[in-house]
Amino acid sequence: MPATVEGNDVQRLSGRIAIITGAGSGIGRAIAERFLAEGARVLAVDRDGAALATLAACEALVTHIADVSKDAAPSAILRDVIARFGALDILVNNAARGDGKSAAQVSDDDWDKMFNVNLRAAFRLSRDALALLRAPHAAILNIVSTTALSGHRSQASYSAAKAGLIGLTRQMAVDCAAQGIRVNAIAPGIIATGMTSAGLRDAGWAASVVGIAPMNRAGRPEEVAGAAAFLCSDDASYITGQTLAVDGGASTSSVVAPEIIAAWVEKAGS
Ligand code: NAD
Repeated sequence: MPATVEGNDVQRLSGRIAIITGAGSGIGRAIAERFLAEGARVLAVDRDGAALATLAACEALVTHIADVSKDAAPSAILRDVIARFGALDILVNNAARGDGKSAAQVSDDDWDKMFNVNLRAAFRLSRDALALLRAPHAAILNIVSTTALSGHRSQASYSAAKAGLIGLTRQMAVDCAAQGIRVNAIAPGIIATGMTSAGLRDAGWAASVVGIAPMNRAGRPEEVAGAAAFLCSDDASYITGQTLAVDGGASTSSVVAPEIIAAWVEKAGS
């Protein structure tokens, strides 16, 4: 594991102990690698043991295979972090499942599975971690989505669960402030990971989701990880209850890429 991130030798997380869920791939993996590079010790949790095994081994990294939606997961994860590292400063709730259904298509079972992973599991792990998180550097970070900030096509249960997680972020920020625990969220836009790889290979879908970002490109997991390291460090010591969009400007603009407008014009004229 490199001691520094390319072009960046800050060590804001030196001495901190972090749990990161969904750390086997994509954004969670990039956050784990960034936290390690900034001096943290990391318990990387994922249900996919093969993915966890591809993280570069080092003394500061312990892997833990678990499906975070199972009832026994929080106690097993928290027992492991204390057994391996003796304390806890940071929890990143990143593990999630995706969606692709409009409200009319979502079954009761779809809804329950979505909420179990994307909201209930994050709540239960956060709640149980409260007794361990040590002030003054304690932080919880929830990875949500810009789909929870504005409507997107066919994301009914996903965006509802992520919106719930934004609400939980605000509420826990209030409840936990006196205990010295900050609670924030990051709302990624379209980031090139396994969750979006099939969609991004479809030129039409890619243009429609990337073209609404003024920066007109998908983000990289490392760009979310940089924001995560900031929010979990003392550089963000007076920030709590916030949701930071990391989305190339998509959620704050009404910009549409010229090629998408050209396609609309062509369609309207045909
Ligand atoms: P990804 O599919 O690349 O990685 C998700 C990881 O979480 C995988 O390693 C998977 O095995 C693990 N995981 C899933 N369910 C789990 C469970 N029940 N228990 C344990 N591990 C589990 O996805 P990603 O794109 O890196 O997404 C990471 C986070 O970012 C998610 O919360 C997602 O909702 C959010 N997000 C992603 C995007 C994007 O464009 N990629 C956009 C907005 C929000």
